[in-house]
Amino acid sequence: MRVGTGYDVHRLTEGRSLILCGVKIPYEKGLLGHSDADVALHAIMDALLGAAALGDIGLHFPDDDPAYEGISSLELLKEVRDMLLSKLYVIDNIDVTIIAQQPKLRPYIETMRDRVADALMLEKDQVNVKATTEEELGFTGEGKGIAAQAVCSISSALEDFETAVPGSMGCEGGCGGCCGGSCGFAD
Ligand code: MG
Repeated sequence: MRVGTGYDVHRLTEGRSLILCGVKIPYEKGLLGHSDADVALHAIMDALLGAAALGDIGLHFPDDDPAYEGISSLELLKEVRDMLLSKLYVIDNIDVTIIAQQPKLRPYIETMRDRVADALMLEKDQVNVKATTEEELGFTGEGKGIAAQAVCSISSALEDFETAVPGSMGCEGGCGGCCGGSCGFAD
């Protein structure tokens, strides 16, 4: 098992849509950014990339690249999913906390979980979304911006396969050490 964390902040401004975990939320302001500025998905992507030691979203999706201008962060999340799959990592679970004074996010939490789970091809109970305020303190409390923190756990599909089918990594009845001894044939 591997874990990763992610953190992101975007400024609230007029004339932008507020999109969190892929859900458009009615509000007088939205988040400023090169993409759709979905601060929650950005934190999730950084957590996933961190767990896989694949850098961060700034490395893969530079904010001066016109290709990503106004793009839905759900599309970027799917690209991160595919990066992990190409390394044979599977996602165990994700937990994200959105820190915002306004608006109230509770009515949208379940839809947010659905959007993230769908994009990552996960079950809903593998994704948790929380929202909190900072009691009117600091930049989130003053309504200047929204922050998000995420943590995730991922596993190597190869390890899972070896556990499910002892010897499947090529030990063929005698542990050659290729699986780290997990095949069950070690002395
Ligand atoms: Mg961001």
